[in-house]
Amino acid sequence: SANQAVWTQDSVVKSNLKEISIPNRTAVEHVWENLDKWADKTALTCGVTDHCISYHMLYKKSRSFAAQLRSKFKIANSDVVCVMMHNIPDYAVVLLGIIEAGATATTVNPIYTSYEVHRQILLSEPKVLIGTIESVPVLKEAMKLVKRNIPIITCGGNKPLPPGTTCFQELVDDIHVNLESLKGVNTNPENVILLPYSSGTTGLPKGVELTNRNIVAQFMQQDDENIRHYNETTRLHQDSVLAVLPFYHIYGMIVTLLHKLTVGVKIVTLPKFRPDTFVSALDKHKIHLFCAAPPLVLFLGSYAGIEAKHLESIKKITCGAAPLPKPDIDRVLEKAKNTELIQIYGLTETSPLVTTLCPGSRQYTSVGIPLPSTEVKIIDSNSQNLGPNRQGELLIRGPQVMKGYRNNIEATNNAITKDGWFKSGDLASIDENGYVTIADRLKELIKVKGYQVAPAELESIIKEHPNVLDAGVIGVPDQTAGELPKAFVVLKDGHNAEAQDISKFLAEKVVEYKRIKDVVFLKSLPKNPSGKLLRRVLKEKNSSVTE
Ligand code: AMP
Repeated sequence: SANQAVWTQDSVVKSNLKEISIPNRTAVEHVWENLDKWADKTALTCGVTDHCISYHMLYKKSRSFAAQLRSKFKIANSDVVCVMMHNIPDYAVVLLGIIEAGATATTVNPIYTSYEVHRQILLSEPKVLIGTIESVPVLKEAMKLVKRNIPIITCGGNKPLPPGTTCFQELVDDIHVNLESLKGVNTNPENVILLPYSSGTTGLPKGVELTNRNIVAQFMQQDDENIRHYNETTRLHQDSVLAVLPFYHIYGMIVTLLHKLTVGVKIVTLPKFRPDTFVSALDKHKIHLFCAAPPLVLFLGSYAGIEAKHLESIKKITCGAAPLPKPDIDRVLEKAKNTELIQIYGLTETSPLVTTLCPGSRQYTSVGIPLPSTEVKIIDSNSQNLGPNRQGELLIRGPQVMKGYRNNIEATNNAITKDGWFKSGDLASIDENGYVTIADRLKELIKVKGYQVAPAELESIIKEHPNVLDAGVIGVPDQTAGELPKAFVVLKDGHNAEAQDISKFLAEKVVEYKRIKDVVFLKSLPKNPSGKLLRRVLKEKNSSVTE
């Protein structure tokens, strides 16, 4: 293929895609830049209720919402607003409104427990919480845990509002809203507009600071004509994307939602994954693009209710967030004969995309070449650069690399070198043509169905159990989920507990995909002299027992 990346003499790899030049504008200014071209088209529609919103209305409502946040809720520049919502069209109004107000959006998984939400509230200190009817009770519980009273705005639905909350619909439909308050918005490109959480290479989840400039750069990187996957003639024919990956996660938020809004695509939202609504959305809306994670590719290929005819209109499936097994690739390509399957790779810390396959390249097991203006390299354990086809840690440099972890200089300095290289914590190699292949994860992060599970978080909860002295958590391979967390537990002297007690104790505090099914009791955990848990040793122990 003509698209490749080039090795420099010092073993840095850069693609031959055209460099971007990043304009001095905010991410919302970028979203609205071409609004005139598709103002009357549908921006978002719900795949279940058919509730829809046009581009023009999205523009109007998000600005009203921004003004209301500033005038009614006293949101000032750089204040944090927390969003806990399923994928519904109003998600876009909320997210764009927060950024338009000069504030920072922190997004929470809508299926999190109150315990998990309270941790993110403690860390990010939001001034306003925004939820749907379903998530508001969890937000209220979380507020009790942090012992703070934060105003809640309730989104979506005509059901009676939860008491003590403000109605989102009334705020955005208020005809007296005064846009004057938007005049004070700070539009500096370096402002942090998004604050998603990621545990990075080690420890507990941390706030990832993404700026206007990061996001505008990422929009432009995805726009390269060799990799883009949207129609250029939106005025005549509008492409549509199926948005089932959650918007709270960087991949759903940037790749499926915000970037697609910059190019006039129709976004069909599904609030949760269910085979029946998924198939009917494919039937009803001629879907052109599908942004997937590995479990969804597995589903497309193996679910009998999805036949070749359902996938006929799909021109491109992108898949990222976790490794995609070869058998799953083969099965989906068997059904979707006219579809490009494109692996993409990235992280929350890189806004998210770093590499992508280009249409036509057919190297399905590779994650492709670096995006425009992005450099990658592979280093060994002594930080020496490695040449083609050698495995080592993948490092990334480019305008999409985060500003840093919020209030955590130490973690930031560990993640980004002095000359701007971000350490991914992934084990990878790059071939002579610059195609990157991800081999494994060096970092402790576990990925269950593409979701982040931080071992340190589970360990800290298990250690709160009154009979537990110490705990270590690792990921073990699983056919459908990719990985599952497994716990090794040391009990206090003279205390007893069954595996079930431990998993139940944890299950009360965490979302389903973080739950542990397998608990093993040990007399002690492998640690280095300074007391750091040696997870690698646990992993080796575990595989030698199960083999
Ligand atoms: P997140 O910040 O949740 O997006 O997680 C980022 C991590 O997901 C990366 O560091 C990789 O370990 C993993 N990941 C993302 N995309 C891929 C991919 N295409 N193949 C393998 N692993 C991936």
